[in-house]
Amino acid sequence: MKVLAVLYKGGQAASEEPRLLGTIENKLGIADWIKEQGHELIVTDDKEGPDSVFQKELPDTEILITTPFHPGYLTADLIAKAKKLKLCVTAGVGSDHVDLNAANERKITVAEVSGSNVVSVAEHVVLTILNLVRNYTPAHEQIVAGKWNVAAVARDSFDVEGKVIGTVGVGRIGYRVLQRLQGFDCKELLYYDYAELPAEAAKAIKARRVESLEEMLAQCDLVTINCPLHEGTKGLFNAELISKMKKGSWLVNTARGAICERQAVADAVSSGHLLGYGGDVWDVQPAPEDHVWRTMRNPNGGGQCMVPHMSGTTLDAQKRYAEGTKDIIKRYLAGEKQDPGNLIVENGEYASKAYGQRKENATGQKPPGP
Ligand code: NAD
Repeated sequence: MKVLAVLYKGGQAASEEPRLLGTIENKLGIADWIKEQGHELIVTDDKEGPDSVFQKELPDTEILITTPFHPGYLTADLIAKAKKLKLCVTAGVGSDHVDLNAANERKITVAEVSGSNVVSVAEHVVLTILNLVRNYTPAHEQIVAGKWNVAAVARDSFDVEGKVIGTVGVGRIGYRVLQRLQGFDCKELLYYDYAELPAEAAKAIKARRVESLEEMLAQCDLVTINCPLHEGTKGLFNAELISKMKKGSWLVNTARGAICERQAVADAVSSGHLLGYGGDVWDVQPAPEDHVWRTMRNPNGGGQCMVPHMSGTTLDAQKRYAEGTKDIIKRYLAGEKQDPGNLIVENGEYASKAYGQRKENATGQKPPGP
């Protein structure tokens, strides 16, 4: 059988650092093992257009491995051509690059390595919060440029203490973000999620649920987005919703770029309605060179804390998602049941409650929280 993996190119870094497992060079550490099982493994980063290796190899592929960091976009059209496809494995967390409804129609299983990088992302969220609130990046840029102007950067520098911070989505990552903020003495920690946290879990992180997203946004000094991208969240943060946020607040998005409208964010930052926006996810990946999120600035020249999609791909996380990918394939080859926590869609149904409110969320995963 053919196993096709679409991963990112690691180049020199990957040849020098074997722990960069998520790269085409290091092949998730599973190349020899797949071969020993008697199967063929094709690994590529060439993923766009009909002549790409991804699209050419897809029709014969039974197991497709993709990663959110360099997504092989598996559209309904491509699924229609992938006649042999049975299993899609996301090496990481977040399977929105697969058309999940089309996968359901074909009864293709989509599984991800749930939990594999949630600590990595939660830490990055806290980093981004501190970076934006303290106005760190423009201050650092000053130093690199040989300048020294305290007032120019202190004018937009605040404490996290005493601020109201809210998360959209309080699943594995959102919960861990609020957990990690406990030491900062925030005024309040809020969450908006269609599923309520178990009382004990909410108490442990002193989080208050707000049932309307708009009402939560109006109360927050900083909002962090931690829900999957699905029909209900695509373009959710448009100009209208962003206008409900407090003037001078910050928005952090490490969930998926397309949850926020590109130009609406850039406009809100350049007008100063948002004092800053930061994260690591982009509506198209790799982000084009002229993507406005690379260059947007608030009226004082700061307020932008964007990096490439890296928060969930620390070397620690790569080890976990590489091992998890192997485990999912091992179970598939042995005809064993998958860990229910890893299943997104199976047997033509959503197996996860995280991809929107659907009647057919019969089987469900875990409730929100840790
Ligand atoms: P999870 O399934 O544990 O939690 C997701 C939560 O979002 C659930 O509680 C769900 O009820 C909630 N939710 C869904 N739709 C919502 C909506 N419309 N409004 C409010 N809440 C909603 O998932 P997780 O492990 O916490 O990951 C969340 C997302 O983070 C992933 O789907 C992925 O897109 C993203 N992620 C990014 C990186 C990265 O490297 N940047 C890494 C991992 C995950």
